[in-house]
Amino acid sequence: MNCQSSEELQALVNECRDYAKQGKVADYIPALKKAKQNDLSISIFYPDGYGFSAGDCQQSMTLQSISKVISLALAIMDRGVDYVFERVGQEPTGDPFNSVAKLETNKPSKPLNPMINAGALAVTHMIKGANVQERLHRLMTFIHAITGNDQIKVNEEVADSEFKTADLNRSLCYFLRQHNVIEENVEDLIDLYTKQCAIEVTCLDLAKIGCVLAMDGVEMSTGKQVIPHEIARICKTFMVTCGMYNASGEFAIKVGIPAKSGVSGGILGAVPGKCGIGIYGPSLDEKGNSIAGVKLLEKLSKKYSLSMF
Ligand code: GLN
Repeated sequence: MNCQSSEELQALVNECRDYAKQGKVADYIPALKKAKQNDLSISIFYPDGYGFSAGDCQQSMTLQSISKVISLALAIMDRGVDYVFERVGQEPTGDPFNSVAKLETNKPSKPLNPMINAGALAVTHMIKGANVQERLHRLMTFIHAITGNDQIKVNEEVADSEFKTADLNRSLCYFLRQHNVIEENVEDLIDLYTKQCAIEVTCLDLAKIGCVLAMDGVEMSTGKQVIPHEIARICKTFMVTCGMYNASGEFAIKVGIPAKSGVSGGILGAVPGKCGIGIYGPSLDEKGNSIAGVKLLEKLSKKYSLSMF
């Protein structure tokens, strides 16, 4: 059974909103700290072009780590599967997303997967273009095509403060450069990566991205294959194994939907063959996932039998 109305979603939002009190809004930059702890919203988007939203769905968020799925798709389209996975691994880490630990212990020295920061930085490095501006433009054009929304922009305030506080990411880049995983100037890569993380979307945009992945890369309103089938499959697989940081295993058991979260409190979900889901709930649990958002997905998955397992 599919969700039939916004009221059905609103009832689930109401049931889950209180969980936000048990979490904490990201506070490492001022722009994220401003988020309202109790906000919670959801959009579902179906391949035939209809969708439902509920909660504070006018609220926008920055993609943050959710952008890693999109940059991965573009980098594989640019470079091919073999090139990308010679430089970035395919295994979950069980470590926090910004951990430096496995870079040293994993031999040969390459990031374990594209969903942790080290791997995502290596992937963003692979996006083709003459300079940061051109590479960002290509990434934006790609996002506009996937969402059908050419109004999506970078939130410059978030990008600036991310850039100023990205020293851990800089250290990951230097490590990667020392081991020949990347070659470019670290400041350029951090510039592009922080802008990629600061792309601003709504739940509906996320649900549309999820729907394209769910439909194996086809944007249904135009019928265009915006992401090759095989690449959409790879993205969804990483979402299952590494998309919810080091909580991906438990999430797969409880929810069973390929998903990717970000520190802004967003979650992108792609239910294979069925629909896309976008969530916003900025209060995070200790692993960095939206605390009420995960509960909401758990209830949604049970109610509409969305687990793929
Ligand atoms: N901008 C953040 C970072 O790179 C994104 C991380 C996240 O969403 N987990 O640290």
